[in-house]
Amino acid sequence: MKVSHIGIAVRSLEEAGINYASLFGDKNSHREIVEEQGVEVLSFPVGDTFIELTAATRDESPIAKFIEKRGEGMHHIAFEVDDLQAELDRLKASGVKLINDTPRKGAHDMLIAFIHPSSFNGVLVELCQRQ
Ligand code: ZN
Repeated sequence: MKVSHIGIAVRSLEEAGINYASLFGDKNSHREIVEEQGVEVLSFPVGDTFIELTAATRDESPIAKFIEKRGEGMHHIAFEVDDLQAELDRLKASGVKLINDTPRKGAHDMLIAFIHPSSFNGVLVELCQRQ
């Protein structure tokens, strides 16, 4: 398992992108819409991981709801696994509260699933798998 990326909820990718480009530079940034999640992401590679700025593309997107409730900021941490479904089954069997029982489509053509923050001390955890 390794840290895949850290998700940060933002209102505007344009504004946040300028802020974070001043930190990381923007020559390797990657922007993409993830229709299934209702988000657009702008990611910056940092070492072996990514900082992923995430903005809502529609009002009912979980990111829109998060920002409405808590404002912009740290949203989730994502860990890469080899077999996502096996990890979800294992965690579920051990009593962990899953948001997604089965993998969804995420950015970078990854399969993803979220775990409820109540299971990890207030932190929203995403597991992801390369395809
Ligand atoms: Zn993510």
